[in-house]
Amino acid sequence: MKTIYRILFVSILLFIALNIYSIDRPKLVVGIVIDQMRWDYLYRYQHRYSPDGFRRLMNEGYSFDNNKINYVPSFTAVGHTSIYTGSVPNIHGITANTMIFRNSGEVLSATADTNAYAVGIVNKYDVRVSPHNILCTTITDELKMATNFRAKVIGVSLKDRGSIFPAGRIADGAFWLDEGSGNWITSSWYMETLPKWIETYNSQCINAKYLYQSWELLYPADSYTQSVKDYHIYEAGIYDDKDTFPIDYYKLFKTDKCDYGLLKESPFGNTLTKDMAKLLIENYNLGSDDVTDFIAVSFSSSDYIGHRYSPHSIKVEDCYLRLDIDMADLLSFLDKKVGKGNYLLFLTADHGASYNAQFMADNKIDAGVVDINAMRKDLNDFLFSVFSKKNIVKSLYNYQVHFDYSQIGGNSELRKIIRSSIQFLKKHKAVAYAIDCKKVSQATIPFVIKQKIINGYHYDRSGDIQIILKPHYYSDSSTKGTTHGSWNAYDTHIPLLFFGKGVPHGKSTEEVYITDIAPTISMMLGIPLPSGTIGKPLIFK
Ligand code: ZN
Ligand code: ZN
Repeated sequence: MKTIYRILFVSILLFIALNIYSIDRPKLVVGIVIDQMRWDYLYRYQHRYSPDGFRRLMNEGYSFDNNKINYVPSFTAVGHTSIYTGSVPNIHGITANTMIFRNSGEVLSATADTNAYAVGIVNKYDVRVSPHNILCTTITDELKMATNFRAKVIGVSLKDRGSIFPAGRIADGAFWLDEGSGNWITSSWYMETLPKWIETYNSQCINAKYLYQSWELLYPADSYTQSVKDYHIYEAGIYDDKDTFPIDYYKLFKTDKCDYGLLKESPFGNTLTKDMAKLLIENYNLGSDDVTDFIAVSFSSSDYIGHRYSPHSIKVEDCYLRLDIDMADLLSFLDKKVGKGNYLLFLTADHGASYNAQFMADNKIDAGVVDINAMRKDLNDFLFSVFSKKNIVKSLYNYQVHFDYSQIGGNSELRKIIRSSIQFLKKHKAVAYAIDCKKVSQATIPFVIKQKIINGYHYDRSGDIQIILKPHYYSDSSTKGTTHGSWNAYDTHIPLLFFGKGVPHGKSTEEVYITDIAPTISMMLGIPLPSGTIGKPLIFK
């Protein structure tokens, strides 16, 4: 009898211990990146969000309201990679959308890979991309390895970089839109042929249907109180400079063929991404068993619409109100398919965006655009006058100066050229600092900016001089629309919401970073930290 009691006692202790120390994993992790979403958009348009979309995430989930990007430049490829690696360009190696390689002199897209080809289009060698430029693991790679490759991992976005970098190297698939054919495609890195159902989907030209409609405002124009009514002088229209509602995308096709490139310019591109995410969850049976799966979804149209029309436009406001409807639909789908409380979701952005510079200047803020090509030409002319070398500045790109090293004798000559260039650049009225990338730690600039430059610098994939413009100045060839890329809050203060399994309701204003997202997911899943992570796991207080 005594033995029975002893066994019972030990069993109860074991049961308690297992329940204390075991991790109850979600069936599915849903990572959402909204391209160019500024943090303030959560609140700026809040009064018009439905209770089931963004507001549901805020009302039931946890918001880190002071989430920052801790490197420069704040661009798309860099943001997506930093979210999923918990790391920075200095380590993960993705320094920009288009990277200039110092040793080889090549100028390549961050996703470029000459060994890969496209799967899903006839001219497969037209698109050669893969995740091979990432130099450390993503949280999605770690999930794969931690589950002995049983977890399924999928990425989807209209942009290749929005899909590939989050999905990582070991994913089951990363899909994006091919503008020429209108097909969903992937890379030979992941598979040799598309899944049959995607081939069938593509053959039915379903994506075209998203463009054979008009973008009309959801509400009467004068009710968009968060935006400037007649803002057209600051907007860069699609073909002429005045896009007025309704915007009939099918009337903008230049030929008889459907112009799929316009999907990125339209809020329907976000709806399409959401619908494809649903199909991927369904067809890959994500979240259907006890092994945690992962879907990484990146909404790109918000970036194109933001660039074209900028934050004070009714178009950006309507884009977010429509995205809110898409979000509500996605959440309701996940509730039904995976089950309420069975999935863990996070939502963030790859960067924010500036207000339109001319709009700010017209409203008494010191602001403006910088013609970076003119700056390069002036710098080249100046350096020619000093060193008698022609076009020694190879490029002034990503706010960095790259030199033509074939014309430079050695390191001491390079240092002289860098010093002279810095003196020259500092005289420009929009330049706050011009800094020798090798001597950042000695620069007398705020620590926060110094840290961002060091984090963003990679010895083979960055330039020699980092240019930091004054607040509200950015590189653009036109005064219309807007852009991003700087260290400033408007480009680097982004939303961070967690929602679902294991997430209590709450809010924090503690300063946290884009690099904290992946380690937080690691802790919540009980899986290894990505190999390059510098972030810390966040605590829901
Ligand atoms: Zn972006
Ligand atoms: Zn952008």
